[in-house]
Amino acid sequence: MVWNPIARRHQEKRAALAATTARAVLAEWAKVRPESVAADWARLLPKVTAYVQAGQLHAAEGSDTFMRELLGPEAEGAPEVDPAQFASQTPDGRNAMSLLARGAPTAITAQRRRLSPRAAMARGAAFLDLVVRTVVSDTGRQADQVAMVANKGVRAYVRVVELPACSRCIILAGREYGVSSGFLRHPRCDCTMEPVTRRNRPSPLDAEDLFESMSPEQRRKVFGEAGAKAIGDGARISSVVNARKSMDKVEMFGKTVQVTYTGTGSRRKKRPPRLMPEEIYRLAGDDRDEAIRLLFRNGFLR
Ligand SMILES: [Zn+2]
Repeated sequence: MVWNPIARRHQEKRAALAATTARAVLAEWAKVRPESVAADWARLLPKVTAYVQAGQLHAAEGSDTFMRELLGPEAEGAPEVDPAQFASQTPDGRNAMSLLARGAPTAITAQRRRLSPRAAMARGAAFLDLVVRTVVSDTGRQADQVAMVANKGVRAYVRVVELPACSRCIILAGREYGVSSGFLRHPRCDCTMEPVTRRNRPSPLDAEDLFESMSPEQRRKVFGEAGAKAIGDGARISSVVNARKSMDKVEMFGKTVQVTYTGTGSRRKKRPPRLMPEEIYRLAGDDRDEAIRLLFRNGFLR
């Protein structure tokens, strides 16, 4: 069993985009002086926000390309995603700039706890790296899922996991989910989805396949010494992985309706509230036409 090369390339491009965007943001963070964190970061914030939004835009632009390359004629006639709409807020409906702004208080709090200036700045960098990679990856997956829901030939999706990956993702490798089911992920997760259609039937790598392809060192790193040995001796991988380390879907606001306002640069102007895709899927339930209608109405499709 092997991954479809198109799905694999899509996953690799997305992971590279998340990494590149994070590097660009961290290069700006490196200009911040420990003695004037708040002022320096406030000055750099518009530029950094633009980097992240560009990363989100690129991620969302990849969705239709991926669907066309992978599905060919089965992608014809399906509505297109509007990439700009996905870049106008974070995937859970927050303002990207205010999220990135939290890099400064992260470092300042660390300084107050008497960390060295260098260690305090490293805390800020770690926070920003996590936020940027997660936002870019989640944006890409959100756009991919909208593209899949919009194409009624897509019946389900499978999880594409590329090594190196953590144990939580490895046990989910190749699993199939309903087309609008929330994608389980953790911060920095770079797994992606491959659509299942009448013609495109992925026979993806599962946890056992991935384990087989790992070096002894990789196995120990991911599953621990005892875990790697147990799996090697025939234990089921899912019985070895710590299920307490759970993963989340993109729904950080819980059950409250996800409402946001378009555009980060026009916060003073009241715009009509919009629903985020995850909220749309929940509201539409099994009614796919309703989900598509709401995706159009909220600007995610065009
Ligand atoms: Zn993982």
